[in-house]
Amino acid sequence: MKKGFAVGHLPHAFALFFYFQMSFMVRVVLGSLRFQIATDLALSSAQKGLMAAASVLSNAILRLVDGVIVDRLRPKLTGIIPFGLLSTAALIALTGSKSRWRRGWGASAKLGAARKTWRGANMRMVPRHKQRLVLVGNGMAGMRMIDEILARDSERFEIEVIGAEPHPSYNRILLSAVLAGDKELNEILLHPRAWYATNNIELTTGETVVKLDASAKMVTTASGRAISFDKLVLATGSRPLVPPVPGLDLPGVCAFRNIADLELMRDVSRHGGRASVVGGGLLGLESAFGLMKRGMTVTVLHLMQTLMERQLDEAAGLLLQRDLERRGMTVLAKAHTEAVVGGAHVRAVQLADGRELPADLVVFAVGVRPNIDLARTGNLDVNRGIIVNDFMATSEPDIFAVGECIEHHGQTFGLVGPLWEQARVCAAVLCGDTAEPYVAPAPHTSLKVTDVDVFSAGVLAARDDGDEEITLSDIGSGQYKKLVLCDGRLVGAILYGEIADGPWFVELIESKRDITPLRDGLIFGRALAMAA
Ligand SMILES: Cc1cc2nc3c(=O)[nH]c(=O)nc-3n(C[C@H](O)[C@H](O)[C@H](O)COP(=O)(O)OP(=O)(O)OC[C@H]3O[C@@H](n4cnc5c(N)ncnc54)[C@H](O)[C@@H]3O)c2cc1C
Repeated sequence: MKKGFAVGHLPHAFALFFYFQMSFMVRVVLGSLRFQIATDLALSSAQKGLMAAASVLSNAILRLVDGVIVDRLRPKLTGIIPFGLLSTAALIALTGSKSRWRRGWGASAKLGAARKTWRGANMRMVPRHKQRLVLVGNGMAGMRMIDEILARDSERFEIEVIGAEPHPSYNRILLSAVLAGDKELNEILLHPRAWYATNNIELTTGETVVKLDASAKMVTTASGRAISFDKLVLATGSRPLVPPVPGLDLPGVCAFRNIADLELMRDVSRHGGRASVVGGGLLGLESAFGLMKRGMTVTVLHLMQTLMERQLDEAAGLLLQRDLERRGMTVLAKAHTEAVVGGAHVRAVQLADGRELPADLVVFAVGVRPNIDLARTGNLDVNRGIIVNDFMATSEPDIFAVGECIEHHGQTFGLVGPLWEQARVCAAVLCGDTAEPYVAPAPHTSLKVTDVDVFSAGVLAARDDGDEEITLSDIGSGQYKKLVLCDGRLVGAILYGEIADGPWFVELIESKRDITPLRDGLIFGRALAMAA
């Protein structure tokens, strides 16, 4: 070693290695970056020239330094060849390793100037012709928007999707079917992980985006990862509403929104026992039904007089209660939940009238509220939801929003129907296609409870003297229909028992077609109305 040093082999090898390494960084990294940085920062010709000169100049300085070292050491040829080969091999090995690349890119990215061209922690370079589209929220609306974009122009964007839940996207609606034991979790996936890879979409799950910097075009995750975007779509969905009562944090208390809630319900219901479901809306009844099918004794606590009062009128609500009670569910109307009590686990629900209902599981399903937390950090215009225009753009031009997190002309959303159209309009705008302005469709829904057929669309009752109601009621056989008309047009429909004509009624409502010629037979359904 000493001898090698004396004759100049080792220092020379170091000098060679240093030269190769530095000249590689200067030529390859800075050289190839130069064009990208210049484009992104819109540098002037003089600035571009200075950048090019800097690369050549630093190379020349390196050569001078290396030359001085080599001249002073008077190296011997026998030393140069093996050590030269060795250092070249080391250089190739080091620069070839993935982690080294990443560190190298990361250090370069710290220049900050090239921020837009780097991909967060991975710091992958993005081809110049593609814009970076970042989607926050791996739910139903966001993924529909991605599907629409891929269908229009799969090469247009470099796409990254970040979701707070630890799963790839799934059909949230079908959580009810999984709870009822009619489906398995793997059957409700919208896109498995492999799909994202096949479509060159970078997917990050289990990570919440906590900060949005609209002017820097950057979002930051809870783990501190900074992700830049050219276009951002927020699809952060809703959060379950829970009344401010004591005991919400007790084990055995949950909402019904995601797979984590479902898993808790499945776990507790394994031992049978009693469940209280707070809320007699669509979600509450579907979870109550699922828990009953899993062997629990279920009581629904509903604040209002009749069930599903947002979708059904009183007559249909009472029919529904009757049919659910016949199946073994207990429904307590006008029940005001005051507290959830327990110790190591939930034990009971206390009502305002003093009653205490024993419970091993308490599910809150009293509604949802748009999740606007992230939008707030970016100072986007928000009200109840993230305010969007008819083209799904927020108050920041390159930031869009779709799904339950939005507010459009004062309206927020809680069903998927309207979300599909939002996704379509947003994708069209992002792809530069001409988009029709978004018009919210009439809300319509049906209950997913076996053998209980309920359908509802649009207006539930006459709003004033100008509106007209047509009803057909046979309570004994469990049949009830109500249509609401306004100026010769259908504006609402409630169907209980026989619901096959539901989609046709929705069509009539949305088309705003004059139904005067069909009026007499309308309540009897499509076949009879058309034949009349
Ligand atoms: C059990 C159940 C049954 C339903 N049944 C029906 C039905 O029969 N018919 C109907 O029309 N609708 C139904 N719905 C409602 C329907 O599921 C919703 O309308 C729809 O899922 C909303 O889609 P979204 O993409 O806006 O929100 P979501 O599907 O909730 O997706 C939002 C996603 O964004 C993620 N996210 C939020 N914030 C962040 C952040 N900061 N960083 C990263 N990720 C974030 C969330 O974790 C979530 O995964 C049902 C809902 C439930 C829970």
